[in-house]
Amino acid sequence: MSGLRLSWDASQPSVSGEAIRTGEPVVGRQLASDPLLAKWRSGALRLGYAAVSALPLRGGDEVIGCLTLVSSNEDAFDAIEVALLQELADDVAFGLATLRTQAREAEARQTIRRMALHDPVTGLPNRAAACEALAAAITDATPRGAALCVLSIHVARYDEVSDTLGRETGDALLRAIVQRIEGIAAPAPHGLSRVGDDALLLVVEGDAERATDLARRIAEALYPPVERAGLSLDARVAIGVALHPRQGSDPEELMRRAKVAMYRAGIGGCALYSGPHDDERRRRLALIGELKAAIAGGELMLYCQPKVDVASGRICGAEGLMRWCHPREGMISPSFFVDLAEHAGLTTPLTHWVLETAFCERSRWHDAHFDLPLAVNVSPRDLHDPKLLDRVRALIATWGIAPGWMQIEVTESALMEEPDVVIERLAALRDLGIESMIDDYGSGYSSLRYLQQMPVSSIKIDQAFVRRMLSYRESAAIVHSTIELCHTLALRAIAEGVEDEPTWRALAREGCDAVQGYYVGRPLPVEDFEAWAMASRFRPAASTRIQ
Ligand code: C2E
Ligand code: CA
Ligand code: CA
Repeated sequence: MSGLRLSWDASQPSVSGEAIRTGEPVVGRQLASDPLLAKWRSGALRLGYAAVSALPLRGGDEVIGCLTLVSSNEDAFDAIEVALLQELADDVAFGLATLRTQAREAEARQTIRRMALHDPVTGLPNRAAACEALAAAITDATPRGAALCVLSIHVARYDEVSDTLGRETGDALLRAIVQRIEGIAAPAPHGLSRVGDDALLLVVEGDAERATDLARRIAEALYPPVERAGLSLDARVAIGVALHPRQGSDPEELMRRAKVAMYRAGIGGCALYSGPHDDERRRRLALIGELKAAIAGGELMLYCQPKVDVASGRICGAEGLMRWCHPREGMISPSFFVDLAEHAGLTTPLTHWVLETAFCERSRWHDAHFDLPLAVNVSPRDLHDPKLLDRVRALIATWGIAPGWMQIEVTESALMEEPDVVIERLAALRDLGIESMIDDYGSGYSSLRYLQQMPVSSIKIDQAFVRRMLSYRESAAIVHSTIELCHTLALRAIAEGVEDEPTWRALAREGCDAVQGYYVGRPLPVEDFEAWAMASRFRPAASTRIQ
């Protein structure tokens, strides 16, 4: 029957066609006479065939084919034979339908997998697939001693373009970028994936040299903008590279390290992960991300450290010091996170928090007849913030703060940035009843001309000199001349970092007015401070004087 052309189109009548069309068996048709068989008659008769039957193959509601049989015997298809054949046809149909269902299922599974592992915008493997592929690449490369480069590629303007021109334009930019990268990186055995909205990952076999060369070429290829709808879209990327096995063998770790390097690379640049330096950077990045929530979420605490008047031996004030009680890292020093806040643009909320807390606590002290001045540290940036004074005025009103209750400390190095502005601000604070002190004196380079004009009440000698004054002549000389300078300018001299009695005595001999340091007391949580102070040998005088 080879060469037979069957059709189930009604315009070309045939036995099989009719069986398929009607879904009913067409049985025992005579080749010699049946009009349905006219087309094949001469050929079939020559082959010795006499009768033909066609049995539809039914799969559920549809006819999925037909079983056509020919016989040289005209009467071959009797009722019993037809019943048997129909049974056979039904079995075949069932088998075929099952195979089809399985094929459809496999196809569906593949689609689901493709969707689960692919990014629909670029068609690239997504993050889950990238992790799988990277793990497989590592397993494959390790026994061969082959090196892998993991490139973290950040599409710098994706968010901006999507926000301002719409997600579709952002996606078009991304697709154009992917195309350019593929043009350069091909053939990359482990390829390119989209691991975040604006983040691509490229894994290639090779060493640091190959990686930097590739990264540089990709960065260069993305310098020219992508043209779309008359707009020039900035296509530049930042690329960070981490290497297997040198910098890790865990896919997530390698991806993280490449990302850390990427932050250092900057837009249009590329950088190799560089170990501990970048780990520290990563820690800082993570903390910057958490600091904002920490300010709002009650992770900050105010500690207080006493200042003691040398002549009377009594506590004469306290300095408020911030602490970040981090759930994972423990207590983080303000010297670390104040600087971090500055980089993250969070100085203002941080200062607001400390001012608010200090004013509130100071008001409580007053209610408890514990009237010691409380000093708050402000950053140079705060002093240049035009809203600082309004803020302080509002706090004075809210907490009913009287003159002399609050003080501020400003580091010496801050004074010389636009000294005229600083003088004006400090004078305004003084008019509000808030005294200022110059902190860490000796660490900056303030000029005497400005120092004379600064509306401050005291100078705090940097602890670096105080701690060394008994062992180094130079330090002792600085402490001596600073105390002298203070008295010439009619200011009080306060020594910080006093850790032992000999230092205290040496400072007393020099005529230092007040001291602060571990010898007197370490910083304590503000709520414990009053009880500690009242029980201490430096207990404030009964009528706690404001000085
Ligand atoms: P600072 O204003 O010079 O504060 C004194 C620092 O020296 C405090 O460190 C204090 O705990 C520490 N200290 C006090 N006595 C001794 C001593 O006898 N020996 C030694 N080795 N250290 C002593 P802390 O609390 O870690 O604060 C570090 C710096 O962070 C502060 O230096 C201040 O510049 C800044 N800071 C603290 N709180 C705030 C704040 O609320 N706002 C701002 N802007 N900065 C703050
Ligand atoms: Ca201070
Ligand atoms: Ca200080």
